[in-house]
Amino acid sequence: MNNKQNNILAPTDMCIITTYRCPMRCKMCNIWQHPTEKSKEIKAKDLEILPNVKFVNITGGEPFVREDLNEIVDVLFSKSPRVVISTSGWFSDRIIALAKQYPKIGIRISIEGLSMKNDELRGQQGGFDKGLKTLLELRDMGIKDIGFGITVSNNNSEDMLSLYRLSKNLNMEFATAAFHNSYYFHKYDNCITNKDKVIKDFEELIRLQFKEHSPKAWFRAFFNNGLINYIEGNRRILPCEAGLVNFFVDPYGEVYPCNGLEERYWKESMGNILQASNFSEIWESEQANKVREKVRTCPKNCWMVGTASPVMKKYIQYPLGWVLKNKMNSLLNRPLCLEKKWYDVGQSPEQGNLKQR
Ligand code: SF4
Repeated sequence: MNNKQNNILAPTDMCIITTYRCPMRCKMCNIWQHPTEKSKEIKAKDLEILPNVKFVNITGGEPFVREDLNEIVDVLFSKSPRVVISTSGWFSDRIIALAKQYPKIGIRISIEGLSMKNDELRGQQGGFDKGLKTLLELRDMGIKDIGFGITVSNNNSEDMLSLYRLSKNLNMEFATAAFHNSYYFHKYDNCITNKDKVIKDFEELIRLQFKEHSPKAWFRAFFNNGLINYIEGNRRILPCEAGLVNFFVDPYGEVYPCNGLEERYWKESMGNILQASNFSEIWESEQANKVREKVRTCPKNCWMVGTASPVMKKYIQYPLGWVLKNKMNSLLNRPLCLEKKWYDVGQSPEQGNLKQR
């Protein structure tokens, strides 16, 4: 049965987790305690089975521990016009060398605060300096698709505002996230305890983003309002449709709808690229549909860019209405309207209802 008959859309976004090896020792992520064996990690040739998409994210662990990363990038650029690597920035020389080879590559360096806070949270001295120096060198080389991102936990939300200002001054992209629990991070106790402070700082970030002249910043403000909603413990403002137009491939070749799964709720793969003869065999399989059905009633309320961005585009009328209203408020120096709305787009009432489990 083809895609159309089966009513299954072709994927547009994929994320490749190249390794669980990582030199960092982050407090909010335990991947580094569960490294993959190098010999068991998927190889560049294994990725040739993947479909053509609009966007690929390469992540880890730390992708730059892979000595064959250029081969992986080579295959992925044959699948997508845009390939972005998420990295700790630790291996500066390798990042610069790869960017010389692929000037269209995107690089996002995770920075968790100003120097002291970053190095404390990431468990490696000198990480902030390395990350910043690498970004500056990439900029001097003329690499355009660069920026940094922060994962907000309990004690770094104030630094988020300083990093945002730094990103503006450097004319670089700035992404936000809040820490989550999942099998992927091997963390089950990530919980924001100083919610009032963190929410206040996110509200200030949203206010600053509306002062910008870029619609992209205003939609990031919508995403950040979704993060406040997540931190408050509410249902996702827009449904999770993980596995409908996006997927993750883990270092062993398993295809998952997202990286937010937890075994205590559910965790199932759609299939394994090492065992399939073509990607449709996985994407259009009964098992993939079973996984999508589980997503439809998933009790979690993750709000991560990989699964928020596709639904923000699909149900654009809601973010757009919110953005227009608040841009007007911002221009007229009126308070922003940041109440959290749950948009009913026909999602299952079971989705996001942890109380049912
Ligand atoms: S809410 Fe979505 S992203 Fe989170 S675990 Fe469930 S399916 Fe995955």
